[in-house]
Amino acid sequence: MSENKNLIEGATGAWEVVLGLEVHAQVMSQAKLFSSAPTKFGAEQNVQVSLVDAAMPGMLPVINEECVRQAVRTGLGIKAQINLRSVFDRKNYFYPDLPQGYQISQFKYPIVGEGEIEIDLADGSVKRVGVERLHLEQDAGKSIHDQHPSLSFVDLNRSGVALMEIVSKPDMRSSEEAQAYVKKLRAILRYLGTCDGNMEEGSMRADVNVSVRRPGEPLGTRCEIKNVNSIRFIGQAIEYEARRQIDVLEDGGEIAQETRLFDPRAGETRSMRSKEEAHDYRYFPDPDLLPLVLQQEMVDALAADLPELPDDKRARFVREYGLSPYDAGVLVSEKVSADFFEEVATGRDPKLASNWVTGDFFGALNKAGLSIETSPVSARQLGELIGLISDNTISGRIAKEVFEIMFETGDDPAKIVEEKGLRQVTDLGAIEQVIDEVIAANPDKVAEVKEKPKLIGWFVGQVMKASGGKANPQSVNELLSKKLEL
Ligand code: MN
Repeated sequence: MSENKNLIEGATGAWEVVLGLEVHAQVMSQAKLFSSAPTKFGAEQNVQVSLVDAAMPGMLPVINEECVRQAVRTGLGIKAQINLRSVFDRKNYFYPDLPQGYQISQFKYPIVGEGEIEIDLADGSVKRVGVERLHLEQDAGKSIHDQHPSLSFVDLNRSGVALMEIVSKPDMRSSEEAQAYVKKLRAILRYLGTCDGNMEEGSMRADVNVSVRRPGEPLGTRCEIKNVNSIRFIGQAIEYEARRQIDVLEDGGEIAQETRLFDPRAGETRSMRSKEEAHDYRYFPDPDLLPLVLQQEMVDALAADLPELPDDKRARFVREYGLSPYDAGVLVSEKVSADFFEEVATGRDPKLASNWVTGDFFGALNKAGLSIETSPVSARQLGELIGLISDNTISGRIAKEVFEIMFETGDDPAKIVEEKGLRQVTDLGAIEQVIDEVIAANPDKVAEVKEKPKLIGWFVGQVMKASGGKANPQSVNELLSKKLEL
C-alpha cells in the first residue's frame, strides 16, 4: 500500500500523521483482579467494594486466576508472545478515586509481549499493525462531580476491576486505520469472550497518541488524547488533533508533549495536563505480590481451546460457502452476525443466505434501530424463508413481501404464505389462462412484439401483475414465448 494516499496537505506542504493506540479493555470475569468483589455493570453505587478495593489498612491483594487466563487467551488471540514470568508494580499517583494511592499495574515485565493485528481497510487491502505489549492492571473508581453544587462523590464499584492495557506500535497513518484497528481488536476480544467491548459502558476505551511529521523525517512530538470511548469519536479526535498540530508547526510553533481530552460536543481536543514521564510514577515491584509465573502447559491448554477468530472465520466463509471476501468480512465483523449467518445458511444456498442477511435483514434492523439480539426475525425463520424461495414455493419478489410481514409480526414465513395465499403458481394451466387474457386484451402489443422480441418483458410484467406476483417467472417466460410464437 502506498504511504502517500494518507498524507495531509498543509499550507507549506504535505504532512504524515503517526498514530499509536493504548486500549484499556475490561476483563470479563466474575470478580475483580485482586479481590472477590463482583464486577457487574450498572450496580448501585459502592455495593461492589471489598475491603481490598477500598484499600483498608492491612488488606492484601490475591490474584484472580481467571483474569490471568483471560489475559493469556487475549495474547494468544493477537498472536503475541506470552511471558511465563511477569511482575506487578505499583504506579504511584494521587487521585480521590484511587484509595490505595497507587495502581497495581505491570511495567517492566508485562504478561504479554509483542503481537500483531491485521486490519481491513475500505479499499480491500489488509495492513498489519504491531502490538507492543499487553499488561494487566487495576481500574480506578469513579469521581462524580455533577450531583451536588459544592461536593464531589466517589463510587468505588470499578475500583480494582481488571483491565488489559493493549499498547500498539505507532504503525497507523490515518484515522481510518486507527478506527479499523479498534474495530478488529474489539471483534477479537468479543470472539474470545475476554472483554465485552461495550465502549458506551466504558468497558473498552482508547488513549490515542497523535503526532505529525514531514514524510521521511523522524517522529514528531506526540500528544495523548485520553479515554476516547467511541470509534466515531476516535476518528474525529484524530482529524482535529492532526490538523491542530500541523497549524501550530506551520505557524513556527512547537508541539508540547501533553495529555489532551476530546470534547465530542465541540468536536475538538483540549489540553488537560502536561504529560508525565514513567519516572514520575515511581514504579516499583509490589511487595505484596510475588512475580506471576505461568506453566507452559497452562498456556498450551488455553491455546488448544481458543475459538475460531475473525480472520480465520472469514477465510473459511470464502472457502466453504463461496462468499466474496467483502461479504464474508461484513458477516464476521461481529461474532453474533457470523453465528446468525451460519444458522441461516446451514443446509441452504449460502450465497442467497448471505445476500438476505447482509441485505434485507441488516437493512430492516438498521431502519428499526434494532440489533440481532433484539430482532423479531430469528435465524431459523429467515432460513425457512430462504428454503421457500429455493423450493419454488414463493418467488424472490414475494419473499421480500413475506419478510416485511415477518419483521412486523414475528410470524413464521410458511404461516404467512398460507394465510395470505402467496404460494407461487406453478400450475401451468392457471398461468396459461392469465397469459391468454393478457394476449387477448393487447392485440397491438402482440403485433409489435413480432418486430421487437425484447417486448416480451412487457408481457411478463403484465402476467406477473395479473397473477399478483405469484406466477413462477420462468414458466411465464416459457409459455409466453410459445404462445407468441417467438
Ligand atoms: Mn493504563
